[in-house]
Order: sequence, then C-alpha cells, then structure tokens
Amino acid sequence: MTITPLMPVYPRSPVRPVRGDGAYLYGEEGERYLDFASGIAVNLLGHNHPHLTKAIQDQAATLMHVSNMYGSPQGEHLAQRIIDNSFADTVFFTNSGAEAVECAIKTARRYHHAKGAPDRKKLITFSSAFHGRTMATISAAGSEKMTDGFEPVLPGFETVEFDNLDAAEAAIDNATAGFLVEPVQGEGGIRPASQEFMQGLRELCDANGLMLVLDEVQCGYGRTGSYFAYEQYGIEPDILASAKGIGGGFPLGACLATEEAASGMVIGTHGSTYGGGPLAMAAGEAVLDVILEDGFFDHVKAMGDRLRQALEQMLPNHDHLFEGVRGRGLMLGIKMKVDSKPFVPYLRSKGLLMVAAADNVVRVLPPLNIEESHIKEFIELLSSAARDYEVPEA
Ligand SMILES: *Cc1c(COP(=O)(O)O)cnc(C)c1O
Repeated sequence: MTITPLMPVYPRSPVRPVRGDGAYLYGEEGERYLDFASGIAVNLLGHNHPHLTKAIQDQAATLMHVSNMYGSPQGEHLAQRIIDNSFADTVFFTNSGAEAVECAIKTARRYHHAKGAPDRKKLITFSSAFHGRTMATISAAGSEKMTDGFEPVLPGFETVEFDNLDAAEAAIDNATAGFLVEPVQGEGGIRPASQEFMQGLRELCDANGLMLVLDEVQCGYGRTGSYFAYEQYGIEPDILASAKGIGGGFPLGACLATEEAASGMVIGTHGSTYGGGPLAMAAGEAVLDVILEDGFFDHVKAMGDRLRQALEQMLPNHDHLFEGVRGRGLMLGIKMKVDSKPFVPYLRSKGLLMVAAADNVVRVLPPLNIEESHIKEFIELLSSAARDYEVPEA
C-alpha cells in the first residue's frame, strides 16, 4: 500500500505544528514560526486565545451537541448579535465556508421560486473566484483546475470577468437569479473589487430584481478593518456567506440574509445536523466578544496601515522579487515578479508562515490582534529571507 493515511489531496509542507500561542506556532521539534497565515484567515485572535479557549472548554463541559429539532437559545443569541451588527435579518449556521455558500446559493434560487419566477436560477460569478470545494461551489467558481475529472458540473452558473461591470451587466438574462461575488478575492490573489464595480452590481440588482450574494468567507469578520467588507463599499447585500474567522478556529460558518431574500427558506427547505450547535455557538460568541470591543476594528486598520507602509518601504529593496502590495486592512497580498509558489516554502524554512495565492501573490494574513512588535519581526524575517532567496530555475 503506498497511499498515505490522509487522502493525498494536499501538498503538505514539512511544517508540522503541534502547539500554538498567539501569533506563533511550534512544530514537533519545538521549532517556532511566526504565523502570518492564521490557518488561512481563520485564527483571527491568534492561537490559544484565553477567552475563546475558555468559552469552548466551559461549553464542552455543559452541552456540546443537541439537534436542530430543539429550540436553540445559544443559536438565537449569536444570530441576534450578528443581525444587530449587519444588514441581515436572519442567519443559518453551517460548519464551513462551502456550506455557507451553498446555503446562499439555495436562498437566492429559492427567493425567485417564492416570488413566482422559478426560471431565475442562474448566478453570475467571476473569474479567479473561490467559493469552496463542494460540487455547487466548484461549479460556481468554474475554474477547470477544480472541476477537472469531477464533471458533470452543476448548471446555473455563468462566469464573467471580475471587476468588469459591463461584462456583469451583459450576462443578465431572463434566467438570472443574481450575482455571487467576493468583495475582496482571497485565493484569486488578494484582489479588492473597485467601488464602482460593487456599487454597480448593487444597482443592477435593484434595477432587475436580482439577489446580490457576497462571499465574505475570507474577507469578512474584521479582516479588512470593518465587521464585513461590504461596509467599506457603502452597499448592503441581500445574502452573505461568512465562515473562516467567525469561529476563530472552531469550525463555523453562517449564511446571512434579509427577510425579503430569505422569503423562500421556509420549514423543510434546508438543514444541517451539526450546524449551529451549542459548542460552535460558544466559539462564535467568544470571537464576537473580542472583535466587537471598542476600537478593535480601528486596531485592525492601524496595524494594516503600519504593515502596508513597512512593506512599501521594504519591498523595493528586493525589486528583483517583489512588485508591490495590495489589499485592505490585514488582508494583504505581496505581488511577486517571480513564481510565488516556491517562495512560500522557503519562508517557512526561515520560520515565517504565509500562504500563496493565484497571480503570483503571497498572502499576508496575520491574526487581527497582532502588535507592532509582530510587524517588526515579520518585516525582518521577510527581508532577510528575500536577501538570501535564490530564485529556482524555471
Ligand atoms: C475558504 C473559502 C471558502 C470555503 O470555505 P471552506 O470552509 O473551506 O469550505 C469559500 N469562499 C471563500 C472566499 C473562501 O476563502
């Protein structure tokens, strides 16, 4: 037998973390890493945050799982807090981002079904998008890399160029249910949509009775310096998928919707065995306790500005490698002039954890509660690695 015990779908790196503490991870031999990957934008309070850890421990010892057959005081409380701080009137809790996007897709289709337009099934999606790895979400993103060999893909999605409002408008027809878009693309290379594009999509939805569905699984939950990224575009969606940071490391996702958008989601139309269980709700509450404290988002913005300034100063010293920095808040991307894929493992070997993205970008996704000292250490590690890095022959 040569197959590995873990189904070999990931190119796993030699980093084998066994312990975490704040912005640091420790490997099996005790080696220390500065974690500016945060489990891909998940550990937004860093590792072992005492408030989050205690909330999970206490809840585990009280009540871990029941069923959505029963009333959920824990779910109602967290949903209400999310509603109080967002556009939403109602929330469906999931265990992952892909499930949150699935629920968002179903909600958008079901809206038109409930409104007597059952032919409106098609969501217009965008190039370089990432929405998860389920059949519907790989069909939505449409990239051949993800669908190859998994056909038939699901119908009901049409992909047009990201940030191109004319292309989005031209794709609207009688079968269109709405748009599904990441306000800041993550896997696609940390690419923020323009203001005109997001506002334009909102206007197209209003004019044509369509659903604006945002995938904020990566860019939401404080990552870009506001609770959700849409706030910075001066618009509100009809439906939004959240996950990653929402549980701070505990598996949790959520599909948020307005009352109008959720008008088709009646009893029996959707469900999840684990979704919204007491343990996940405790984690979600603990994360909100911290990020809704006065000044937290200001801290994210301030650290994001510092980090960006420091990078803008340092990157030109290695201009054979780096083109520049882009993104918002603490969701930044360093665009490289060379292949970013081998650079990321090199950084890991130097004790710095980051994530690659498409378009030769290296993602900078630190915990949101980092301090200036972490930024200083990051810049030192990155700059010394850049100095020593030998670009592999193509
Ligand atoms: C990570 C991600 C997903 C999928 O989340 P999973 O928890 O891996 O299912 C969906 N959309 C975006 C934008 C993501 O970054």
